[in-house]
Amino acid sequence: MIPRDHPRYGSLVTREHLADCARSGIVSWEGLIAHGRGEAFDYLLGEKTSESAYHAAKTAAALLRTARLPVISVNGNTAALAAPQIAHLQKTSGALVEVNLFHRTPDRVRQIEDLLQSAGAEVFSGEAERLLPLAHDRGFCRRDGMYAADVVLVPLEDGDRCGVLVEMGKKVIAIDLNPLSRTANMATLTVVDEVTRALPVIADACSLLTDQECQHLIAALDNKVFLREALNKMKARLCDALD
Ligand code: ATP
Repeated sequence: MIPRDHPRYGSLVTREHLADCARSGIVSWEGLIAHGRGEAFDYLLGEKTSESAYHAAKTAAALLRTARLPVISVNGNTAALAAPQIAHLQKTSGALVEVNLFHRTPDRVRQIEDLLQSAGAEVFSGEAERLLPLAHDRGFCRRDGMYAADVVLVPLEDGDRCGVLVEMGKKVIAIDLNPLSRTANMATLTVVDEVTRALPVIADACSLLTDQECQHLIAALDNKVFLREALNKMKARLCDALD
């Protein structure tokens, strides 16, 4: 039982939920460690969406809105943390939702697809093939889905697959609290924010942006600026704490 008045109530509830999801097989044990890394960076960001991350999220919406075939790639942590937000983003962006896992078993894929579906998402499922040049199981995807996509949103990605997707000529949007990660630095655009905060901002912007606003946001896209702004935010908070 987590007391409601605990100062870290939200964080503790999320941890308990992820631990439950690890016990049921939706989240991998390694996924719990990745969550801990994310929490550490979120602490440095003040656990709030910065103005810069808000702007990056709007730019992400512009990329999704103007895509020929946008795909949202979902792993265990993303499904456990944000299945309803993924369903909402799918509705406003029209993107396909496809499950992609590092620790892949048919049972895990089915469990995660069921979870997404019960949250209201339409999952693009079916036979996956090893189509991405990766030695691990994140190389599995669907020929008419992620393989054919021109824009892929990868919340909580690893650097290898992000790099491969970019090399294939796709625009890759990462959501990653760590602006130093390989993913954050390789992606076309990184939203340095917590996934449950970032997804609704992207979803709402998909509904609200005009075509002209999309063009302006895309023309101004410079991922290095977003990463530098996130690092400056962390630096400022560290300096304040030292004063
Ligand atoms: P890379 O290979 O890109 O250098 P990595 O080895 O850290 O990164 P993973 O272990 O897959 O890759 O970690 C996933 C990333 O997701 C981490 O950088 C972590 O900061 C981030 N992350 C974890 N939880 C969240 C969350 N809830 N919201 C946003 N980002 C998160």
